[in-house]
Amino acid sequence: YSVRIPLIAGNWKMNKTVTEAVTFTKQVTDQLPDPSEVETAIAAPAILLQPMIDANSGGRLQVAAENCYYENEGAYTGETSPMALKDMGLHYVIIGHSERRRYFNETDDIINRKVHAVYNNAMVPILCCDETMGRRESGEHVHWVVSQVTAALKGISDDEAKKLVIAYEPSWAIGSGKSASFDQAEEGCYLIRQTVADLYSDEIANQVRVLYGGSVNPDNVKGLMAKDNIDGVLAGGASLKEETFLQLTQYK
Ligand code: PEP
Repeated sequence: YSVRIPLIAGNWKMNKTVTEAVTFTKQVTDQLPDPSEVETAIAAPAILLQPMIDANSGGRLQVAAENCYYENEGAYTGETSPMALKDMGLHYVIIGHSERRRYFNETDDIINRKVHAVYNNAMVPILCCDETMGRRESGEHVHWVVSQVTAALKGISDDEAKKLVIAYEPSWAIGSGKSASFDQAEEGCYLIRQTVADLYSDEIANQVRVLYGGSVNPDNVKGLMAKDNIDGVLAGGASLKEETFLQLTQYK
């Protein structure tokens, strides 16, 4: 039996300037929970990361990246090196967010390479897997979720897999204000944990943290966190304001 430390993570997407990011970080840094009880992270665009790290005087916030490339260096104009993220001191990188899959054509193969690149640089991916309403209505969502997780983890070792964070994010709940029900969210997170158990072992599946994402807010966070297989949340909109992000971290 392992104790999974809850992880409350924000994903800012492309919504803040350096000035705003620094103000936010300074305001929350001393008010966050003890990371041995509840871990907190904000994923932000690469240009905001070093200023946020410098502003994180309390040291409790995990400053994280929203994406990276799968090569460490080379002629890849405009891309972000995972080696450079590690050098900044980062621990988490979001990989495979549904917006990356949809708008930037990230395939399962690209996402798998990125997962390897993050581990090869001694960081941990927050691997996102999505689900559409169409697939849910046709009953295809189970196969879809399983296949995304399986493809993303191809070639990933037991030692790497046990550190993993996976976020279950139904596309119809992202940015829509319409969260999945507590039971739907639990069902999705359970399915992901079972997939990890099938690919690796029950022991590893029990260590992996599974987050729910999709219109999480201060009103629904507690009900979500009460579920057995939900170890944390990934919040977009609600992570943009200091007050609501702090409320998420204080869900207890
Ligand atoms: C997200 O971007 O991962 C997300 C869940 O967004 P929101 O909380 O705004 O639905």
